[in-house]
Amino acid sequence: MPGFELFGSQEKAQVQDVLDNGVLMRYGFDGMRNGHWKAKELEKALAARMQTKYAQLVSSGTSALTVALVSAGVGAGDEVIMPTFTFVATFESILAVGAIPILVDIDDTLTLDPDAVKKAITSKTKVVMPVHMCGSMANMGALKTICEENQLLLLEDACQAIGGSYNGKPLGSIGDMGCFSFDYVKTITCGEGGAIITNTETYYKNADHYSDHGHDHVGNDRGAETHPFLGYNFRISELNAAVGCAQINRLDEFIALQEKHYTILRKALSDIPEITFRRVPDGGVENYSFLNFFLPTEELTQKVHKALGESQIDACFYWFDNNWHYYRKWGHLFQQKSLGRLPKDVLEGIPDYTQEDFSKSDHWMGRSISCLVKLGWTEKEVHERAAKMAGIIRQIVNP
Ligand SMILES: *Cc1c(COP(=O)(O)O)cnc(C)c1O
Repeated sequence: MPGFELFGSQEKAQVQDVLDNGVLMRYGFDGMRNGHWKAKELEKALAARMQTKYAQLVSSGTSALTVALVSAGVGAGDEVIMPTFTFVATFESILAVGAIPILVDIDDTLTLDPDAVKKAITSKTKVVMPVHMCGSMANMGALKTICEENQLLLLEDACQAIGGSYNGKPLGSIGDMGCFSFDYVKTITCGEGGAIITNTETYYKNADHYSDHGHDHVGNDRGAETHPFLGYNFRISELNAAVGCAQINRLDEFIALQEKHYTILRKALSDIPEITFRRVPDGGVENYSFLNFFLPTEELTQKVHKALGESQIDACFYWFDNNWHYYRKWGHLFQQKSLGRLPKDVLEGIPDYTQEDFSKSDHWMGRSISCLVKLGWTEKEVHERAAKMAGIIRQIVNP
């Protein structure tokens, strides 16, 4: 997945442009910048690649989610439906706007189960937030129908699936808004950065203003701009955006490389009858950043995961136990351990998650392994890795 693996001359040339004129900020200083507007350029390239009218860059994927929620008017006491398997940024952004994270089960797509979403809707629900984890997507057709029927906002977290598609549309462009992260370990990187894409002008304008203290960005005297509403600072710097300008041009090259490596690994594991692969919804195309598969039991999965690690097959994750991407490690959320007092709406509205039953999620996550697909491998290395993995797994499932 990581774009940092292929950081080279194009990235350096883009950053050098910024260093040559010294304007490190994305707004203003028109005279000094010699025509270099890296953030604007990246927004244009991203909107074009994602086939949306608008793109707004911000400082991170987490801030993209926060700004997206604010831009749609989500606030105190509103409920946002999210999956039990995601990065912690999902509930961090929801809590940041005073809204309430409502956790629901995932299914064999490793993303939101549409039936679980339906059951979780209340009069307070405002948003459904699918998270396209590990390179593949939620059932966007089903979720779109649910959102339309219930007048809910559909906000896609496509941070881990940039470049994938659903019914021919780029992931992130299907819902009302989509978010990307360009942090250092994502498919393409800015070092740090994120973006919101949308076809809705109001959301875009709100995001543009809100992420820069509410500045209306009218005219070219920054000091004289008006502030139609309260904002915050979630700006990206020109240096970070410059790296992204080089990386976005390489997105399709990266995806093609991931697909090639993924296909070799998958083929090797396909011959093992005990292995099944994560379900990709009809019409979906992954971005191939991970290969995700299931084993028949939790015990076998743990054994396989341990054996892969001991054989130096790196970057294979057993999210059920080891990492903070699954609800079982979210004690700080469940106990509401915040430095200061949380808003009353949150304290009163948040369900008691220590009592909730997520056994449907456990059924899939307990048997799931996700292996990162790297860009930097040689073809020979991928074939060796595939053969080694298949050998290890065979030995464990058929001793
Ligand atoms: C990385 C990531 C984020 C947050 O992005 P940052 O740029 O690191 O803040 C949000 N959601 C998902 C699914 C991610 O993988």
